[in-house]
Amino acid sequence: MKESIQPKYYRASVTCACGEAFETGSTKESLKVEICSRCHPFFTGKQKFVDSGGRVDRFKRKYGRS
Ligand SMILES: [Zn+2]
Repeated sequence: MKESIQPKYYRASVTCACGEAFETGSTKESLKVEICSRCHPFFTGKQKFVDSGGRVDRFKRKYGRS
């Protein structure tokens, strides 16, 4: 008799290096990524990056401790 071999599918919280956080389906409970669709213009093909200046600033404040 087989146990279920399907991994559990979580609603993972993804944290991006830009400071953006969002949820997605994943087999892991949490993920970290370096780029996301919000901070990388490549994904959108549009210049939405302009609008994320506040986020970058926030990110710098949060992680720029050196
Ligand atoms: Zn991002």
